[in-house]
Amino acid sequence: MNATDRLAELFMRFPGIGPKQAKRFVYYLLREHSHFKEQLIKALEELKFTGKQCEMCFRYFGDKNPNSTKTMCSICEDETRDRSILMVLEKELDMDAIEKTGSYTGLYFILGNLVPPLTEKPSEIIRIRELTLRIHSTLEKDELKEIIFALPVTDYGDTTKEYVEKTIKQIVGIEKAKLSNLARGLSSGLELEYVDRNTFASAFEHRN
Ligand SMILES: [Zn+2]
Repeated sequence: MNATDRLAELFMRFPGIGPKQAKRFVYYLLREHSHFKEQLIKALEELKFTGKQCEMCFRYFGDKNPNSTKTMCSICEDETRDRSILMVLEKELDMDAIEKTGSYTGLYFILGNLVPPLTEKPSEIIRIRELTLRIHSTLEKDELKEIIFALPVTDYGDTTKEYVEKTIKQIVGIEKAKLSNLARGLSSGLELEYVDRNTFASAFEHRN
């Protein structure tokens, strides 16, 4: 297999990328100046050594220092963030979008997936064990005041929320924290990962 076909095959492993899109990327790279390719190679080289998963929110992050023992991402590490609010999300992209609005200062937890309706073992699909542990330890430190669900308004989103809610309600001391949802107007038809500042601010303000 030649280099362009090999590269196209690799691009096809990305979520949502089919053969045509993959080829388009390859042709783009063939056309581009070498400076862009060098930047790309350098960024990939860095990721190779530094891609880590945060032990608190479970998002993947890059760590510039290959020798560091850092286990938390910059958001979870940031002591100026409000530790009393925990937002539960499906994926990293949603978290990035909310961070970009600059209007949320609490912490996050990424479930990693959504539970399809009628699933027999939802615990194998989302990070429910990790979330339970996280809530448990935050409650012990008396830090947690509110858990906000920021999940899509779809069958999958609702099934996930019901399951998570049911499970965390069994945690000792959970009654000290309020459970809330981003206002529904937000995600009807619009995905959280594309949310803008005003829409998010309003959904957050009107959470219920
Ligand atoms: Zn984190």
